[in-house]
Amino acid sequence: MKIALIAHDKKKADLVNFSIAYQPVLAKHQLYATGTTGQKIIDATGLHIHRFQSGPLGGDQQIGSLIANNDMDIVIFFRDPLTAQPHEPDIIALLRLCDVYCIPLATNMGTAEILIRSLEEGKIKWRNIIHSKTNEKS
Ligand code: PGA
Repeated sequence: MKIALIAHDKKKADLVNFSIAYQPVLAKHQLYATGTTGQKIIDATGLHIHRFQSGPLGGDQQIGSLIANNDMDIVIFFRDPLTAQPHEPDIIALLRLCDVYCIPLATNMGTAEILIRSLEEGKIKWRNIIHSKTNEKS
């Protein structure tokens, strides 16, 4: 599965701690992240992560483009709901695309825990059906 990891500045420590806790699960999947978030997780866990641009410099849009191709399976995006972000339109667009393509999305630790445990239990395997249909078309 392809998993996107993104966290706003005040939530980065939470996502790093989450990644440490679930490192064995995350290590089995293809990981993507916005630039700064990805670097912090790499430094803390050694996980292999494809880093895009930093969020405010287009990273959210780069991840959005994978979602728009139905080529991202899970998005874990620890948003900071109490701080205005310069790239708010990009954030809204990314969340919107998750809804357009029914991509499992966690915007806080509580949901992320449920999502990652479901992943480990094989409950997100339905995404493989989507991939096989997409491959049939191309
Ligand atoms: P960053 O981007 O990981 O590069 O900080 C995240 C964001 O602010 O969207």
